[in-house]
Amino acid sequence: MILPIYAYGDPVLKKKASPIEKDHPGLKELIANMYETMYASHGVGLAAPQIGLSLRLFVTDGSPFEEDEVKDFKQVFINPQIVEEAGDPWKFNEGCLSIPHVREDVSRKETVLIEYYDEDWNFRRELFSGLAARIIQHEYDHIEGVLFTDRISPLRRRLLNKRLSDISSGNVKVDYKMRFPSQR
Ligand code: ZN
Repeated sequence: MILPIYAYGDPVLKKKASPIEKDHPGLKELIANMYETMYASHGVGLAAPQIGLSLRLFVTDGSPFEEDEVKDFKQVFINPQIVEEAGDPWKFNEGCLSIPHVREDVSRKETVLIEYYDEDWNFRRELFSGLAARIIQHEYDHIEGVLFTDRISPLRRRLLNKRLSDISSGNVKVDYKMRFPSQR
């Protein structure tokens, strides 16, 4: 089932999300719905707060990228914990399904060491780099209540103000299902 994606301005996107219990009702279905929603909106990652659930869960699939390094980067992250970020910071032009038509260069470190549970509740500790690390860092921010627009300079942010408030008020054209703060 395709779920509406919550737009910039919704309080759920600014909240630190809560851990998921192992017996969380309907978790498999929720994960399937998140993938369906992400594919329908052509995203490479989707975090639970973006569908209005303040839970520590995100899904990724890097296959839309041209780069081979993320072609097979399809993963479910449950209760993830970033252990360490390392390497030289690099800039990448990021976007977000909750902030349509806005893209900004965001600087993040090269590698990320992360612990998480996969969809079968296997504990994993893995090191990711490059684009995979980038997707993880962006999605991990979502479960911490942080958006990529929080990571740009105050000047860039000011230049975006009008567009961001347009998004909050639903004054934006999107070709996927969204829920705007005014609709709650
Ligand atoms: Zn995002």
